[in-house]
Amino acid sequence: MNSTALLNADLHCHSTVSDGTLSPEALAARAAANGVELWALTDHDEIGGIARARAAAHAAGMAFLSGVEVSVTFAGETVHIVGLGFDENDPGLRHGLESTRGGREGRAREMAAELAKVGIHGAFEGALKYVGNPDLISRTHFARYIVEVGACSDTAEVFRKYLADGKPGFVPHRWASLGDAVRWIRDAGGVAVIAHPGRYHRFDATKEYALFCEFRDHGGRGVEVVTGSHTAAEYGKYADMAIEFGLAASRGSDFHSPAESRTDLGRLPILPGQLTPVWSLLQERIEPPPAARAAA
Ligand code: AMP
Ligand code: MN
Ligand code: MN
Ligand code: MN
Repeated sequence: MNSTALLNADLHCHSTVSDGTLSPEALAARAAANGVELWALTDHDEIGGIARARAAAHAAGMAFLSGVEVSVTFAGETVHIVGLGFDENDPGLRHGLESTRGGREGRAREMAAELAKVGIHGAFEGALKYVGNPDLISRTHFARYIVEVGACSDTAEVFRKYLADGKPGFVPHRWASLGDAVRWIRDAGGVAVIAHPGRYHRFDATKEYALFCEFRDHGGRGVEVVTGSHTAAEYGKYADMAIEFGLAASRGSDFHSPAESRTDLGRLPILPGQLTPVWSLLQERIEPPPAARAAA
């Protein structure tokens, strides 16, 4: 497989198995139609969509990597760690993700109680209508319900007004530790990647530095540089940090929905020069489509 930055790799997106609105099959078809050559589905804290995603990717002629986006609490804030190229049958990873998912229902009930205090009623049942996987009720599902009842015009506004940290519907939650998440991914044979570091606005430079140091000390090996969550200036900033910390660079749209996502699958700029693409570390883990295997 082409291991250069020119490969159209999209290694971050969500299906109905977490908080996306498309099935794994529909995502695979969309990625292939947009020219993606190497694809991973990275549902939040959940690997239940991987088998379907792999089959659909291969049917559409794309190479595939297993993927997941693990929710972590670091220095009191939520950080996301993407895992790529792991064995999804690994028991440690499976149990770890299961325990991370476990608190979501209780948190969602608390969120609904807080939202009721500011006039948004029936939010638990309302959010559930948008949930594809009962284990994975997320803020995104609440956001869709709050748009439905007309309290906001889009989900970005819902996060600004109701669901971001400090807003009335936000309920603090303790996710996995950074060390646990990196270890689950590594022990299952995969590579851990810091997701969209530009999104952790509550971190000052010292905490961001600590995140990168501790992540690397735990054996993390990559960072998302080109993601739908970053500005062009952040591509440059995190390219520099990738080099400073000796991390490989990843590229992923973080696509959730045709109606909600600004960046479509496979449509991101290529990685800046001089970076080591994370897929060059994963050559042994990449699963080519059957036709490519037959030709090899
Ligand atoms: P949760 O895991 O339940 O805390 O939900 C996190 C998800 O909410 C993220 O994966 C995003 O899909 C979504 N999200 C977080 N912040 C925003 C935002 N400002 N605008 C739109 N979606 C957001
Ligand atoms: Mn999400
Ligand atoms: Mn994320
Ligand atoms: Mn994501």
